[in-house]
Amino acid sequence: MSVIEDNIREIRENIAEAAVKSGRNPSEIQLMAVTKTVDDDRILRAIEAGVDIMGENYIQEAKRKIEKMNVDVKWHMIGHLQSNKAKYAVRLFDMVHSVDRMGLAVEIDKRSAVAGRVTDILVEVNVSGEESKNGISLDEAPDLIRQISLLDNLSVRGLMTMPPWFDDPEDARPYFVTLRELRDRIVAEGIKDVEMRELSMGMSGDYRIAVEEGATIVRIGTAIFGARV
Ligand SMILES: *Cc1c(COP(=O)(O)O)cnc(C)c1O
Repeated sequence: MSVIEDNIREIRENIAEAAVKSGRNPSEIQLMAVTKTVDDDRILRAIEAGVDIMGENYIQEAKRKIEKMNVDVKWHMIGHLQSNKAKYAVRLFDMVHSVDRMGLAVEIDKRSAVAGRVTDILVEVNVSGEESKNGISLDEAPDLIRQISLLDNLSVRGLMTMPPWFDDPEDARPYFVTLRELRDRIVAEGIKDVEMRELSMGMSGDYRIAVEEGATIVRIGTAIFGARV
């Protein structure tokens, strides 16, 4: 049994425990392995252990891995995306978690139309308002979502966030709660063509808390693969 397999089994147990604790069904939560800087062999270990969503931050790195590895998994873009890279994002990824401005949405929509597909996206929200963070502000998010909903070749599936880093993961809870409440407000609006199923939140340090607060996709790197080099 490899370390990676062990780690994944433990994470799945923790996810299930957090789900049950908060009255959720563990099957509602998908585990993403965040594979930035992780080499192909170790990614294969995670796939063998049953993980079927890989998260990448950089187009170049993702392109190389996706084309070379040719594995039957889903690849999600979780890093900051420049509009001029939208073409590659559409071609490479099953979902883009990091849409945080209209210019980028328009570009992904245009490239999706050319490719004859509809691209699933999440809207990234900067809940903390920290300047160093990507994401649309809480205040502006509903309007961005209304505008994106008018684009034919994008499908809004939910929201993504990254809270500030805390020593005590319990401190991240209010940020997860705020994202869930934003999701609920948008659902209540009933915007046509907007589905708010996904809450992409929770990383190695705080995924248990995120699951307790409604996460449907947790994005985990270090706790699966060890510290990044
Ligand atoms: C790197 C990264 C993660 C994973 O972080 P870990 O702490 O290693 O689990 C999750 N989400 C995003 C957006 C990332 O960039």
